[in-house]
Amino acid sequence: MAMINSVLGPLDTSDIGTTLLHEHILSSSTAIPQNYPEVLDTGYMRMIVRKLKEAKAGGIDTVVDATTLDLGRDVNVLAEASRKSGVNIICCTGWWTEKPRFLSGISIDRLAKGFIREIREGIAGTDIKAGILKGASDKAGVQPEEEKVLRAVARAHHETGVPIMVHSYSPGQVGGRQIAILKEEGVPLNRVKIDHSNDTTDLEYLFWMLEQGCYLGMDRYPGEGASPLARTRTLKALIDAGYKDKLGVSHDWSLARYVASDSIIGSSSKRKKINPYDYLYIKKVVFPMLREMGVPDKVIDKILVDTPRKFFEGV
Ligand SMILES: [Zn+2]
Repeated sequence: MAMINSVLGPLDTSDIGTTLLHEHILSSSTAIPQNYPEVLDTGYMRMIVRKLKEAKAGGIDTVVDATTLDLGRDVNVLAEASRKSGVNIICCTGWWTEKPRFLSGISIDRLAKGFIREIREGIAGTDIKAGILKGASDKAGVQPEEEKVLRAVARAHHETGVPIMVHSYSPGQVGGRQIAILKEEGVPLNRVKIDHSNDTTDLEYLFWMLEQGCYLGMDRYPGEGASPLARTRTLKALIDAGYKDKLGVSHDWSLARYVASDSIIGSSSKRKKINPYDYLYIKKVVFPMLREMGVPDKVIDKILVDTPRKFFEGV
């Protein structure tokens, strides 16, 4: 067992239960929920709580919220959502891919200090602490500011022992460079999860990352590009190869979100059509597919329990 930070205080890893390792409760842009709440649908909290309660009733105990500051993180929203729904929420520190000017000037160690304080003391004047670190790069590969963030995340990991999730672009094998940077910083790779790894079906690349010791976030469901079936076939191939305890299965699904082109769409009919089950899509759609493919129940029943616990415990 180990103690980790949830938005409502310390949580024992033996109590986290069925856990989704990469989701978003509310995502928008930097400081939007706090400064311009009127751009968000007024009913967003009610909707979030309803959907989290449905997830809880369907057996989801804990959700890791991968929403960094630049994705509009609001820890007070997360705490209220957790309190009202009974779902444990673990929030993150670090950065996604939006780069304000200060990131090009700041030193790595100074940036790391902020991440460390968010883990040890609290976020934005609250005593709500981060339980996971996050770095990110996408199609363009690891940009200079993103490398700085990733190194700061690595140094904050050394100080705090908190594990690292890495937003990656698997069709471009961007994980290779991200892993190299983390290795240079001396991070043990069993504390690292390379996310969005099921955006590719390239097993050779995925096996290479697993051989490095990383966890893989098989965390886009239903996802875009690769179909849910293709994603599940890839998942099965990795399970069959003996990696069931290294695969973080999740949705990367925002219950509510606001982006410029697309106001709150958590309840829109288009979105409902893509995923009518929110955080229960994996249980309702993916698990039956795995069963049909011949994956034993004892593996399926444990995959959302054992991997998250081991990832947080550093096994
Ligand atoms: Zn995400």
